[in-house]
Amino acid sequence: MTEIHLTGRAASPGLAIGPVTMLTASVVRRTASDDPAQEAAALRAAIEGARAEIAGLIERLQGEVADILEFQVAMLEDDALADAAYEVISAGITADHAWRLALDVEIEGYRAAEDEYFRARAADIVDIRDRVLAHLSGVDTVARITDGSIVAADDITPSAFLAADWTRGGAIALAGGSPSSHVAMLARARGAPMVVGLGPLSWNGQPPALALVDGDAGTVIFNPEPETRRQFEQRIAAANAALAAAEAGRATPAYTADRRRIAVLLNVTAPEDLASLDPAICDGIGLVRTEFLFEASHGLPDEDTQYVIYRRILEWAEGRPVTIRTLDAGGDKPIAGLTVDGESNPFLGLRGIRLSLARPEIFRVQLRALARAAVHGVLKVMLPMIAIPSELDRAGAMLDEEVAALRAKGIACARPPLGIMVEVPAAALCAEDFGAAFYSIGSNDLTQYTMAAARDIGAVADLNDAGNPAVLALIARTVEAARKRDVEVSLCGDAAADTRLTTALLATGLRTLSVAPLTVARLKAAIAKVGS
Ligand code: PEP
Ligand code: MG
Repeated sequence: MTEIHLTGRAASPGLAIGPVTMLTASVVRRTASDDPAQEAAALRAAIEGARAEIAGLIERLQGEVADILEFQVAMLEDDALADAAYEVISAGITADHAWRLALDVEIEGYRAAEDEYFRARAADIVDIRDRVLAHLSGVDTVARITDGSIVAADDITPSAFLAADWTRGGAIALAGGSPSSHVAMLARARGAPMVVGLGPLSWNGQPPALALVDGDAGTVIFNPEPETRRQFEQRIAAANAALAAAEAGRATPAYTADRRRIAVLLNVTAPEDLASLDPAICDGIGLVRTEFLFEASHGLPDEDTQYVIYRRILEWAEGRPVTIRTLDAGGDKPIAGLTVDGESNPFLGLRGIRLSLARPEIFRVQLRALARAAVHGVLKVMLPMIAIPSELDRAGAMLDEEVAALRAKGIACARPPLGIMVEVPAAALCAEDFGAAFYSIGSNDLTQYTMAAARDIGAVADLNDAGNPAVLALIARTVEAARKRDVEVSLCGDAAADTRLTTALLATGLRTLSVAPLTVARLKAAIAKVGS
C-alpha cells in the first residue's frame, strides 16, 4: 500500500502514531424484522441504551462538558423526540431508517434556527442520532475508539471524543472541522494531537491500517513506509524527551535565554481546572472566564454562590494575583435567557460588557461578589469587549457604588483594580485613552475582528491568524500604551500558548502570558529558547 500524505490545519499540537480507527457514518447493516412492534421495541431499547451510556459518561466528567451531555440525556428522555419515528415504524418502515428520518428533520430544524444557541445544538442531535443508530445495529462506535488509536473521520462529536481515554496516546485526523471548534478546544485541553481540514479521506480499496499525525505541522501520513515510520518515531522520542525536560521546569519561573523574566499566568474556565494543580507552576491567574457560572443549566448565580467560588480561586492562588473577568456572554457563548436571540451577527452584538451594562441588575450582583472576595487575596477585575472609555467609566462607577453600599452595611470588602480586555481593534488603537488599571489582550477576538474572519468558521481559519502583522501591530501598540501609562499588560488569548508565536509576541514587548494549565510546561520551554 502506498504512503498517503495529507496536509490540513493544526488544531492541537503534538505527534502521534497509531492504528487507524475510521469513524464513518456507515454502520454495520442490521437485520430488520418485518414486525412493526418488534422494530418499535428495538428502537426503544436502543434509545435507552444510548441514554444509559451517556449517563454513565457524565458520572466521570464535570463542568461544561457534563452539561453538554446532560442536554443529550434530556433530549433522549423526551418521548416527543421519537414520536415521528414510531409513527413511520407503524407504517412499516424499519427502526433505523425511521430514526434517521425523524432525527434528520430535527437536525435541520436546529441548523436553521435563528437563535445561535439552538444552531449550536445541532451537533448534539447528530451525536444522539448516531449513538442510537450504533445501538440499533449492535455496533458501538464509541467503544471502537480504542486507546492510542488515530481517529479518522469527517468530523467528531464532543461525546465521541470524551468517551476515549486520551491519556494513553492517540490523535484525531479530520476531513472537515475547524481549529476553533469545541472538539479542538477539548483536544488541546487533553493534549490529544489533532489535524483538521484534510479534505476527503478516500482510499482505493482497503482503508489504511496505520497513521502518523503531526499536530504541530498539520499533516497526516497514512500507511507510512518503514523508513518514514522510523524517522517519525525518532521525532516522537525527541519530543518526549523535550517534554519530560519541560515538565521538570514547569514549577520554576520562566526566563528567556537572554535572561528576561516572563510571567506565566493561568487561564481558568472552571474551578475544576485547578484541582490537584500546584500553584507554584504559575505566577498567578491571568483570566478566569466566569461564563461557567452562568451556563443555562445552573441558572443565574446569586451573590453568595459567586463569592464562594471567587474566594476559593483566590485562596488556591496563595497570594499570587488573580484576574477575574466579568461575564462575557454572547457571540459564540450564548446563555439562554440572558443573551439576545436572533441577532444577525452575534459577534458584533450585545455581548460582553455591553450586555452587562444593559443588565445592571445582573452585573451589580457580580461586582458585589467580587468586591467581597477581594479581601481574600490579590484580586484584579477585568471587563470584556471594551470598545470605548465610557464603558470602563460606567462599570467603574457601578463598582464604586456597590463597594460603598457593602461598606455601609458593614460587610467586609475591597475595591479591586479594574482593567480591560483589549480585544476590539478600537481599544487597541486607542488604549492610552482608557483609564484602565491594566490591559489584558484577548488575541482570539482581536484576531477575528482585525482579520474579519470569525473564530468559529473553519473555511476562514487561515485568515484567523494571530501571527498576522496587523494583529501583532495592534498588540505592540497596546504594550506601548501600557508602558507610557505605566500599567501592566498581559496576553490571555490562545496565541499565548501557541509556541510558534512566542518569539513574535515577546518581540512586541510583552512580558506576561496567560495560558491553559496543560500548556504551561511547553510554553516555558519555548520561552527558554527565545533570544538564544
Ligand atoms: C480572547 O478573546 O482572546 C479571550 C481571551 O476571550 P474569549 O476567548 O473568552 O473570548
Ligand atoms: Mg474574547
